[in-house]
Amino acid sequence: MTTSLVGGPALPQARRMVTDIPGPRSAELAARRSAALPAGLASAAGVYVAAAGGGVAVDVDGNSFIDLGSGIAVTTVGNSAPAVVERATAQLARYTHTCFLATPYEPYIEVAETLNRLTPGSHDKRTALFNTGSEAVENAVKYARAATGRSAVVVFDHAFHGRSLLTMTMTAKNQPYKHGFGPFAPEVYRAPMAYPYRWPSGPQHCAEEAFAHFAQLVDAQIGADAVACVVVEPIQGEGGFIVPADGFLRAVAEFCRERGILLVADEVQTGIARTGAWFACEHDGIVPDLITTAKGLAGGLPLAAVTGRADVMDAAHPGGIGGTYSGNPVACAAALGVFEEIESGRLVERARTIGEAMVTALEDIAAGTDVIGEIRGRGAMIAAELVVPGTREPNRDAVAAISRHCHLNGVLTLTAGTFGNVMRFLPPLSISDELLTEAFDVVRDGFASL
Ligand SMILES: *Cc1c(COP(=O)(O)O)cnc(C)c1O
Repeated sequence: MTTSLVGGPALPQARRMVTDIPGPRSAELAARRSAALPAGLASAAGVYVAAAGGGVAVDVDGNSFIDLGSGIAVTTVGNSAPAVVERATAQLARYTHTCFLATPYEPYIEVAETLNRLTPGSHDKRTALFNTGSEAVENAVKYARAATGRSAVVVFDHAFHGRSLLTMTMTAKNQPYKHGFGPFAPEVYRAPMAYPYRWPSGPQHCAEEAFAHFAQLVDAQIGADAVACVVVEPIQGEGGFIVPADGFLRAVAEFCRERGILLVADEVQTGIARTGAWFACEHDGIVPDLITTAKGLAGGLPLAAVTGRADVMDAAHPGGIGGTYSGNPVACAAALGVFEEIESGRLVERARTIGEAMVTALEDIAAGTDVIGEIRGRGAMIAAELVVPGTREPNRDAVAAISRHCHLNGVLTLTAGTFGNVMRFLPPLSISDELLTEAFDVVRDGFASL
């Protein structure tokens, strides 16, 4: 019965638990799943979705959860948002695929024009479209190598850039992303991230010392003239919503410019209004040479982009870039719906308001517990790093217990962090104030139940 539900904002906006979690239909699907799917595919929640929209997701047993994850920062405008559904549906009925490399079409160009306009910097830009975040990052490296004639790529501790061979190599964390999957791609170098909370000599020295390590790696160990690009998330996502110490990214950007090294901002998680700006690098006042986007770009349809300086993007020869499905017309139509939703709904501002409400709720929770080491993030991308009381030792168990409490009580949450000790909150920007408050009441009970 629930499988015929229509999603989107018309879905009743309430938390409602009608069965044990998981309910009987979800348990049935879990059994079918383990007989049909391999073990390497893991899911955070044990329930299966039937419909979603606004700020809720309804499972196949009729339980309605408040969504604080947005499918990992993807449904920023909400699931089945009206403009996305309308435009993608109309596009489905016109044509589903011709392959842009074979017979091109207008929606692709319109997405590119929009990203060229919205991304930081008034310079001449070009955009190429892909299917996934990994593919966008991988192609940004290809552009950087083609434009510079250099091969080395510099990334940071705690980085996540994807799961393909090159991007898995660029990703920092062994478990679960790399373990057993090597050998890895060559010419990837890693510098420390300016992670204030865990900087050995304290947050006040973090930007300067992290920059010194980075500069020494490039100049003394690799050789600046061998480095094609530095790839950095302006706020690290899977790494635990690490906001680099103020000034660090500006120093890196300046250093790269002086040496002809291209700066790639991986905004796959932070981009498209999530952080209370169209792009997170705006908060640091940096203008990257290339920007990758994906997650929030098309409201859940697979679409990714590299937007960058025209001279860099034009360095790759005709036919060197692309893919069968890259820039699929239905996904492009959905992206145009996302831009429309963000502009008409003033969602950049809404992300800021949601962020303030989440920080206030978490600070209030922190006053009554000693496991919150730090609250951080920007806009609707906020995290709490949990520690063993009185120390900075990562508290993975507390994260597991609170996540479980939330899932059993109708709130979908996600975790993150190299040490698995970060609760991250990424609500859709279509969530109501009431639901957000209610969700954090459940989170608060989770902390109280420790
Ligand atoms: C999710 C993510 C990726 C990978 O995107 P996929 O679509 O899963 O390939 C790359 N970079 C960042 C910053 C991400 O958050």
